[in-house]
Amino acid sequence: MSPVETQMPFRCPLVINGEEGSSSSGKQFQRENPADNRVTVTSAEEGTASDMRAAIDAARRAFDTNAEGWTTNHKIRERVLYRTGELIRANAERLAAIVRLEVGMPIRQATGHVAAAADIFDFYAGYAGKLYGESFFQPSGSMINLIKEPMGVVGLITPWNFPLTQTARKVAPALAVGCTLVLKPASYTPQSTYELVKLLHEAGAPAGIVNFVTGPGDVIGVEMVRNPGIDKISFTGETGTGKRIAAEAAMNVKRISLELGGKAPFVVFEDSDLDAAARAAVFGMFRNAGQACGATTRLLVQDNIHDSFLDQVVSLTKAIEVGQPEQQTTDMGPLVSKNQENTVQQYIRTGLDSGFSLVTGGNKLTGSFFDHGYYVNPTIFDNVDNSSALGQEEIFGPVVAVTSFHEEEEAVELANDVPYGLVAGVWSGDYVRAMRVARRIRAGTVWIWDNYAQPVEGIWGGFKESGVGRELGPYGLDDFIEVKQIYTDGTGLATKPAYRQVIKD
Ligand code: NAD
Repeated sequence: MSPVETQMPFRCPLVINGEEGSSSSGKQFQRENPADNRVTVTSAEEGTASDMRAAIDAARRAFDTNAEGWTTNHKIRERVLYRTGELIRANAERLAAIVRLEVGMPIRQATGHVAAAADIFDFYAGYAGKLYGESFFQPSGSMINLIKEPMGVVGLITPWNFPLTQTARKVAPALAVGCTLVLKPASYTPQSTYELVKLLHEAGAPAGIVNFVTGPGDVIGVEMVRNPGIDKISFTGETGTGKRIAAEAAMNVKRISLELGGKAPFVVFEDSDLDAAARAAVFGMFRNAGQACGATTRLLVQDNIHDSFLDQVVSLTKAIEVGQPEQQTTDMGPLVSKNQENTVQQYIRTGLDSGFSLVTGGNKLTGSFFDHGYYVNPTIFDNVDNSSALGQEEIFGPVVAVTSFHEEEEAVELANDVPYGLVAGVWSGDYVRAMRVARRIRAGTVWIWDNYAQPVEGIWGGFKESGVGRELGPYGLDDFIEVKQIYTDGTGLATKPAYRQVIKD
């Protein structure tokens, strides 16, 4: 047992106005280890609507009173963000262990996940002092100043699958521009998120800037979306939840950005480097047990290389070591919960009932430690009809559908024939063709000759039902900025020509 594990169960408090506290309900909820459901990892506060209101009030006060110069002094914000990145690195081992324990993420992946979160803070720290606006002189000499202001108090709602980076992608740009915030994490990952909130305070975030409330989405999440004290909601989660949030937010024209589900295609043409393509595919298919919005879920393979490509993919898949997340040798861990395991198994049954060919996997793993966790074998179905449930719906697990195509036009049609448009992959030895196809796929990111690259300098976000808005990179700031015009007369005239429409002189 690692030193971090001896501290379990972690006691995860609410953080409101810089103070750690308990829920007004007096209740807690427990988070189990999905790799060993006999172990309670975290005991977190079951926050109520009234706790959420208190957190929103604290964030509102901090914003409206410009607490410690937060909204106007970029130097404070810059220091807090840089320092948070440093603290994440200094605490990397602890953070990776907690993510592993709450999510079931294998330690090699959890370690990379922590490093990526630190990079996001570095990147946005650099922007805090560079939020330049624009100026423009009218022919009359009057001046238009376009300035960037923080959107205000933002409500951040995050999922469990990559708890640190999903949170960092919202928190870092929101703080860089001078917003204050309330953060509501997924109930599977309260401690992972709380650790980050703690580091933000240690880095010098003034009281009331970062508030943190745990509890059920349909209680505290709903309160956050409805509450007029929140200027904007930034949400990452399921498309169904996103639709409910969008409908609710529309009632008071609350700004929203939504990072939702995906059903990524991976298109492989006959002239691809099949070895490189197979490795890229398998990485995207089974990273975090397929519990990833950008997971490779549909392999679209040109018919004349179908057999050889699938052979390579299956051989790499069979070599994946499914095991305990703490082992350095483990490539894939358990699913996050019993519910998720049931959903995945239901999709496997649907695949079998539909008559698709099960090429590998398709079973729950049992015996020894497997019996205490939610382990499903990496699974591939071949000859899948793209219009079936397996071709259309987000499974969020290690289940992949293979479909053949004959020519380029058909590949583009299949790739686009889903409600989602988050990410896609294109493989061809002919760069001109790869680029032509990439341009025609309706997705926020298309990778050519790579898979699941998410540079902080780039973007992340979806077309169609995969979302609204963009995270990461400079575009990620726009989600938290209001652009204001300040117009200053430069004529010095008491009566302007336009006034004559109303005043005769
Ligand atoms: P989820 O929608 O179940 O929950 C996400 C968050 O919303 C949680 O914090 C939850 O408590 C909260 N919530 C639930 N109901 C709510 C409501 N009515 N009002 C306000 N908040 C509410 O999603 P999940 O299972 O945590 O995450 C998995 C999903 O997230 C997948 O669909 C995945 O594709 C998506 N995802 C998308 C991205 C992306 O960048 N596009 C990244 C990661 C995950």
